[in-house]
Amino acid sequence: LNFTDYTLSDEIVRALESLGYQRPTEVQREVIPVALKKRDLVVKSQTGSGKTASFGIPICEMVDWEENKPQALILTPTRELAVQVKEDITNIGRFKRIKATAVYGKHPFALQKAELKQKSHVVVGTPGRVLDHIEKGTFALERLTHLVIDEADEMLNMGFIEQVEAIIKELPKDRVTMLFSATLPESIKKLCKQYMKDPLDIEI
Ligand code: AMP
Repeated sequence: LNFTDYTLSDEIVRALESLGYQRPTEVQREVIPVALKKRDLVVKSQTGSGKTASFGIPICEMVDWEENKPQALILTPTRELAVQVKEDITNIGRFKRIKATAVYGKHPFALQKAELKQKSHVVVGTPGRVLDHIEKGTFALERLTHLVIDEADEMLNMGFIEQVEAIIKELPKDRVTMLFSATLPESIKKLCKQYMKDPLDIEI
């Protein structure tokens, strides 16, 4: 199986080639076709499995460059992960000229606000700061079609799960939601049940 076996645009296939990705990893083989069909997903997998590209590829595929407002939100537990995921999205989306913005705490709010006002197709951020931008009206939510909750168990461990829930409540209901976690404790399962539409469970 090859990346060219999926219905991916030339720009995305070329970007994957330039990244040296020859074949999809296991999590990518499971996630990409389902995500391209816009079904909700709960994925139990470890880091280092290629999970970032498993959601990054379908998100970059669906982004409409002409639309200036954010179309995808990716929540991460740490700023380091937010920056890494932003870079991965930028690389996968390079030939579509996809613009990703990272928002996280302990970094000037005004700079992020200015970035969010420009063309910003994908926003990657930590829950506290994302919520801050939502509450101050500096993050336009009306065009969001995709939400990713990455490392959900880490969010729980770090005490972010209530902020994640508060964010979800503000988002358009008509969206695709993908949750990734190494473990699935009861409170994460509850979150999935409450805010996802008949998600497909994938375990790697
Ligand atoms: P992740 O689990 O998303 O942190 O990815 C782990 C590493 O695998 C990263 O350095 C990616 O660049 C790399 N990677 C992801 N997908 C592929 C692939 N299909 N082929 C080769 N390397 C990959």
